[in-house]
Amino acid sequence: MTNHVTHWIANAEWTGTSERRGDIHNPATGKVTGTVDFASVAEVDEAVSVAVRAFAGWRNASLAKRSQVLFNFRELLNAKKDELAAIIVAEHGKVHSDALGEIARGQEVVELACGIPHLQKGGHSEQASTGIDVYSIRQPLGPVAIISPFNFPAMVPMWFFPIAIATGNTVILKPSEKDPSTANFLAELWKQAGLPEGVFNVVHGDKVAVDRILEHPDIKSVSFVGSTPIAKYVYENGTRYGKRVQALGGAKNHMLVLPDADLELVADAAVNAGFGAAGERCMAISALVAVEPIADELIGKIKERMTKLRVGAGNDAASEMGPLVTRQHADKVLSYVQAGVDQGATLVVDGRTHPINGDDTAEGYWVGPTLFDNVTPEMSIYTDEIFGPVLSVLRVDSYDQGLALINANPYGNGTAIFTNDGGAARKFQNEVEVGMIGINVPIPVPVAYYSFGGWKNSLFGDLHAYGADGVQFFTRGKVVTQRWLDPSHGGINLGFPTND
Ligand code: NAD
Repeated sequence: MTNHVTHWIANAEWTGTSERRGDIHNPATGKVTGTVDFASVAEVDEAVSVAVRAFAGWRNASLAKRSQVLFNFRELLNAKKDELAAIIVAEHGKVHSDALGEIARGQEVVELACGIPHLQKGGHSEQASTGIDVYSIRQPLGPVAIISPFNFPAMVPMWFFPIAIATGNTVILKPSEKDPSTANFLAELWKQAGLPEGVFNVVHGDKVAVDRILEHPDIKSVSFVGSTPIAKYVYENGTRYGKRVQALGGAKNHMLVLPDADLELVADAAVNAGFGAAGERCMAISALVAVEPIADELIGKIKERMTKLRVGAGNDAASEMGPLVTRQHADKVLSYVQAGVDQGATLVVDGRTHPINGDDTAEGYWVGPTLFDNVTPEMSIYTDEIFGPVLSVLRVDSYDQGLALINANPYGNGTAIFTNDGGAARKFQNEVEVGMIGINVPIPVPVAYYSFGGWKNSLFGDLHAYGADGVQFFTRGKVVTQRWLDPSHGGINLGFPTND
């Protein structure tokens, strides 16, 4: 029995027949476990017309009603998180505890959006001019689209849709075709939470669906997360069609380790941030910049921890790291490991020979944790986002050299500094050209009431995800200048209004 995943439109599974479909795999076994429909232009249009109709009602639903539905959704999500985590594990491959972690980080944004009556408040100035009050209101955009990547099938859509829905928009989610079932599970929860039909819709598919979303005149904004080339494409084309776009791209995150840092803690952090979710995190650390003379000692500690990591199926509670998402992606990561060797880096731990636990895992998409030393900035293992469990160590002689390396990198998503020197950390936070900074924190994903976003090639657009930026992105402002007439206001005056 395989699972058939189709679009979710108007609070129900779509009943049509798609002309194109893709396979869904279990990355731990390599087996095909289902198929997913790929939307045509007509299928996208059907979802959008439902979202347009639903917008007319939802934009006028009271703040109290909207936040009540969000509270219901939050309760359902929390109650069903284990079931949802199992779905994520089966299609993405990450370990169950990590899947629970991404649900928790998404739930944070739902919780933030429960407070929408407060978040969406405008300003009010009484008596801005004599007898005149000025105030601002923020209104929803209309149907909005979210296009998400494979690596966080629950969390990344939840960076956006709780706030989009709370602010009165209707949503079309186009999830990754690699792990599509999570989106439908979340859609079912919205239905149970009492969200009116057509407010949250899911369209599955590939470039055909994305291109139709970008050009569709009734879609007012696009929130995209994925690789940098596609993020740039989505930004350029979405804005060309007059949409508001925030497009979050790829990353190469550096961890700068100063000689005074506690190397035991640094080694733990490097292993957690380098190999958690098999390195398939946009905030994973993939480049460790060691300020000499600590590199030898630190590498020894990291190596010792890596060899003990238990790699296996995500549904085995003993596993600490799972497989990569597809055979094609695993092959790409393996080709980078070979390129690192060929280009002269020192292969300290070879993930190709790491033992894999579990019975049914022979055909899975495995690459074990891999460590390179003596990596230089021209090598492809450094220049490219590998998005796998490959950690590169670059040796530098000073803080300034380390900073220059990080600032020369075209990506600017996250970075971390490890040190016990507060002054150095403060200098780093001021000088580094990256959007999210960790000080002795390896994966500094901001909490929901701040906003998530990188700099340079890691984000195209202005507003970051969730937090105050999220509310700003999903609403547009109006400013009202009001006067209630009385006889003293009469008379002709052709001058420009002044503030008397
Ligand atoms: P991807 O760019 O391949 O796909 C992202 C989305 O775009 C998917 O929905 C996919 O169907 C669609 N897509 C793919 N190719 C397309 C094309 N040619 N035209 C139009 N649409 C297309 O990314 P992925 O492999 O799913 O995810 C991994 C990438 O996402 C990594 O680069 C990672 O760094 C990045 N990411 C970034 C962040 C961030 O916050 N900056 C967060 C998570 C993931």
